[in-house]
Amino acid sequence: MKRLAILGSTGSIGTQTLQVVAEHPDLYEVRVLTAYSQADALIGQALRFEPDAVVIVDETQYNKVCEALADSPVKVYCGAKSLTEVVHMPSVDVVLTATVGFSGLEPTIAAIKAGKQIALANKETLVVAGNLITSLAIEHRAAILPVDSEHSAIFQCMVGEDSTPDKILLTASGGPFRQLSKEQLQTVTAAQALQHPTWHMGDKITIDSATMINKGFEVIEAKWLFGIDAEQIEVLVHPQSIVHSAVQFCDGTVKAQLGLPDMRLPIQYALSYPRRLELSGSRLDLVKIADLTFERPDLQRFPCLSLAYEAIKRGGNMPCILNAANEVANLAFRQDKITFPQISEVISTTMQAVSFEASPSLDTYRLTDSESRRVAQDIIYNS
Ligand code: MG
Repeated sequence: MKRLAILGSTGSIGTQTLQVVAEHPDLYEVRVLTAYSQADALIGQALRFEPDAVVIVDETQYNKVCEALADSPVKVYCGAKSLTEVVHMPSVDVVLTATVGFSGLEPTIAAIKAGKQIALANKETLVVAGNLITSLAIEHRAAILPVDSEHSAIFQCMVGEDSTPDKILLTASGGPFRQLSKEQLQTVTAAQALQHPTWHMGDKITIDSATMINKGFEVIEAKWLFGIDAEQIEVLVHPQSIVHSAVQFCDGTVKAQLGLPDMRLPIQYALSYPRRLELSGSRLDLVKIADLTFERPDLQRFPCLSLAYEAIKRGGNMPCILNAANEVANLAFRQDKITFPQISEVISTTMQAVSFEASPSLDTYRLTDSESRRVAQDIIYNS
C-alpha cells in the first residue's frame, strides 16, 4: 500500500490522480490533499477519500473547510507554508506535485528533504531550479518520477536500457494555433486558445501549450530529469498526440511510447513503476489512426520555444526569469490585457531586464521570481 500526498488535488492532474486511486484501492490510499482555493471540491474529496489532513492555501476559505469537516477526523490547515509542512508527515510515502507554477518549488524541496518519493507534475519546479532540485534529490535519495506525459514516455523508453540515448525526440501537439499565420495570431483570443485539440488540461497550461512555451519548459524538464543537454533534445510537432515521445540510441534505434491521450496512464505509471497496472478505457488501434505525422516547429510563429532554449543555454537564474515572466504574461493574456504575440515580447524583454545570476541559491530564486514578476507587470501595465 502506497500512501499519497496530492498537492493540487482539485486541478486536472489532481482529480485524475484520485480516479487512479479509486480504481486501485488495494494499492493506494490518500493521506494528504491540498487545494489553492477550490474549497467545495476539496471538501468533497476529503469526505470521500478520508485523508489525515487537508490544506486550503487561500486563508479566506479556511473557516468554510473547517466547518464542513468538523465531524470528520480530517485535520485542516491553511496557507502556503502548510504545504511545506504536510509533506513531512511520516504517514506519507509519495508526494504528487500537481500545483501550478513557481508555487510548487518550496513544497517539492521540503518533500525531497524529507526523503519522499516525488511524482512530479509541476514541471515549473525543474524549469526554475532544476540544478538545485536534482542535486537535493541525489543527496536525500528521493526518487523523482515524471508525470508529464512526454517525460513518462521517455522514461518508459529508457527502462531496461544501460546506455543514455543520443537524442530525445520530444513530441508536441502544436496546440490550437498550429496552422495559423503570423497575421492571424495577432487577433486570437484566450477563449480560442482554451480549446486544445487533443488534451484537456488546466487553463494556464493550455495557454502555455498554445504559445509552445510548455514545450520549451518540457525541454528544460527533460534536461534535468534525464541528464541530457538541451541541444540533444529535438522538438517534433505531432498533431495526433499518439507518439508521446521517443529516444534515439547510438545504434540509430528509435524507441517510442504510443497510446491514446489519457493522463491517467503517466500518473499511474509514476505511482506503480516498475509495475504496470490495468487501465480502463479504449485501446489504441493503429489501423484506425492511420496517419502519424511529424514536422519541425516554426520558431518564427512560436518564439517562446526559442526563448526557452536560450534560457537554458544561459543557465543560472535565466529559466526562473523565463518562468516568472510567462506566469504574468499568461495571466494577462487570459484577462485580455495583452495580445497573443505580446506574451513572447513580455518574456523576452523581462529576460533582458532582470539581473543575471550564474549560480543561484534558493534565496536567489525567490528574489529573481519576485523581481521578474514586477518587471513583467511593469511592461504590461505601465508601458
Ligand atoms: Mg506534457
